[in-house]
Amino acid sequence: MKKIAKNSAAAEKTSLYGNVSQQFNKAADLMELDSSIRKILGSTMNEVVVNFPVKMDDGKLEIFTGYRVQHNNAQGPFKGGLRFHPSVEIDEVRALASWMTWKGAIVGIPFGGGKGGVQFDPSKYSKTELERITRRFTFALGDTIGPEYDIPAPDVNTTPQIMAWILDTYLSTRPPHEANRSIHVVTGKPVESGGSLGRNKATGQGVVFMIEEWAKDRDINLGSMSYMVQGFGNVGSWASRLMEAHGSKLVAVEDATGAIANPDGIDASELVKYVESTGGVAGFKSAEVVSHDGFMTTKADIFIPAALENQITGETAPMLNVKLVAEGANGPTNPEGDAVLEERGIDLIPDILCNSGGVVVSYFEWLQNKRSESWELEEVDEKLHKKMVNAFGRVRDTAEENRTDWRTAAYIVALRRLERVYLDRGIYP
Ligand code: NAD
Repeated sequence: MKKIAKNSAAAEKTSLYGNVSQQFNKAADLMELDSSIRKILGSTMNEVVVNFPVKMDDGKLEIFTGYRVQHNNAQGPFKGGLRFHPSVEIDEVRALASWMTWKGAIVGIPFGGGKGGVQFDPSKYSKTELERITRRFTFALGDTIGPEYDIPAPDVNTTPQIMAWILDTYLSTRPPHEANRSIHVVTGKPVESGGSLGRNKATGQGVVFMIEEWAKDRDINLGSMSYMVQGFGNVGSWASRLMEAHGSKLVAVEDATGAIANPDGIDASELVKYVESTGGVAGFKSAEVVSHDGFMTTKADIFIPAALENQITGETAPMLNVKLVAEGANGPTNPEGDAVLEERGIDLIPDILCNSGGVVVSYFEWLQNKRSESWELEEVDEKLHKKMVNAFGRVRDTAEENRTDWRTAAYIVALRRLERVYLDRGIYP
């Protein structure tokens, strides 16, 4: 059963979508965004809520609630991840979907923005239950997704395996002659199922490309830098390993299981192996256990938040002891946190630029699927590097021209592009 949620344009100030609205309005005011286009981009296009039943291993039935929000498709198909987490709800998904639209516009790829998820804690379910939840959610979404219409990808707690189940379910419910030309319905697939080389590390890789550009601009040698990471899943663990390859020192890590620190350095590659076998950083031997506040006050040059949103706030931003925040996560800093970072002179590479590597390589995967190609890893990395470095330059130059902060500058880059599209095409009818 599918029902369409009503879009509330007046988002609450305290909500995540409220944060997006504040960021959006600040940039729209500064660049004097066309007032009609402001109305369009200030709302989502479609919002789908599905309540669907799934049989558990013990034969009992549970009802799950899933979402897909399609923010804008002026530049191309809706594109964005699916999150499996207890905190997933419509306001969060609206915010995440909007950020996807801005990302596509900043890096210049032909995708709009969408996002979705299911409200549950996957760690409490068996693998077979997880598979059935994923498949039944995909079935419930039906034609809401499609290879040329809306293309999901991994996000928090969703993996290449989960993308493979989505793919199989989607293809199995299409007429046979449609199936082989539909494998680009989802990205972030395992390589053998049509995934791209380099997609798994793409978001972390992009974060590190952005930190490299920041360091180059400031004539800083990354080999002498220390960094701390919040979230040690896909984004955090890849960013950590790639920073380690530069010779930078990982001094603190926090995930859902706790926080650890070692001023002499934590071996990121060893920690990856440990987390793979235990599920979290808690108990890792070569580091000390620290509290959340202890983690937030760690002295480091670079902080990479790569977990959930609203971590750097008016309350926590004063605790930070870093020179740069490179946002691997979506929405880790709220507007009050932004104000404190700016006041304290802490640099920021905003999420909609910093973590866009994932959607860029998703675009490459989609292209490869459409052309029945598979590119070498070097080709993927080189193309990703070029797109992200160009985007970094656009955001930096826009910040300088407008004498504004980098988040607002990133929005201006995106909004200018979208404004052009709407001004050229006009509004039907
Ligand atoms: P993931 O599920 O692989 O990892 C999430 C990590 O966050 C885990 O280590 C988990 O333990 C940790 N975490 C959860 N709750 C926490 C808490 N309360 N405190 C500290 N740590 C906590 O997810 P991911 O794909 O790495 O995504 C992380 C962030 O990056 C999200 O904001 C996501 O939207 C964003 N992002 C992901 C991609 C991608 O390609 N996967 C792309 C762009 C942005």
